Amino acid sequence: MKKNPIEELADYILPIYEKYDSEDVEAPYWMFHNAGDEDDTFCYECGEKRREELLKSHPDEAEDLESLDGGFPIDSDSCCHCQTCGKTLAYELTDEGIEYELDHFEEYGISVPTPPDDAYHVVKMLRLDCYTKSCEEILDDPDIVQRISKLVVQTVEKIRKELT
Ligand SMILES: [Zn+2]
Repeated sequence: MKKNPIEELADYILPIYEKYDSEDVEAPYWMFHNAGDEDDTFCYECGEKRREELLKSHPDEAEDLESLDGGFPIDSDSCCHCQTCGKTLAYELTDEGIEYELDHFEEYGISVPTPPDDAYHVVKMLRLDCYTKSCEEILDDPDIVQRISKLVVQTVEKIRKELT
């Protein structure tokens, strides 16, 4: 049976995503109640450093700064990186986030061969890692679904060229 474009894209991009996800992506951490007026998100190591700095500058908030909050993927309106070192942090995109990422990838295209961090953002944008292999059943905005289909078809053309 002939594969549809989204399955073809998934076959190519999911292995890149899975390797990156298991080796390089970290859980996000942040301060309890934005202690020390810090509302950014960090990898664990940078988060601990920041927490210790804040503990010195904001001793009155020591209770909230006893440990980091987080350690699980967050729902986000955009892709998520450590504020300090830029490492990709685990996230799931909101519907608004999908549109925001779609704007980005429509402008710049999806590179093939796909760099691992891009593969991660593309999989999250298309929600290829959950439910079914198609976001079309999840998203109910026909305009977004159409834009995604177009982007997927363009990318699959690049993948076919790359693989031949
Ligand atoms: Zn970091």
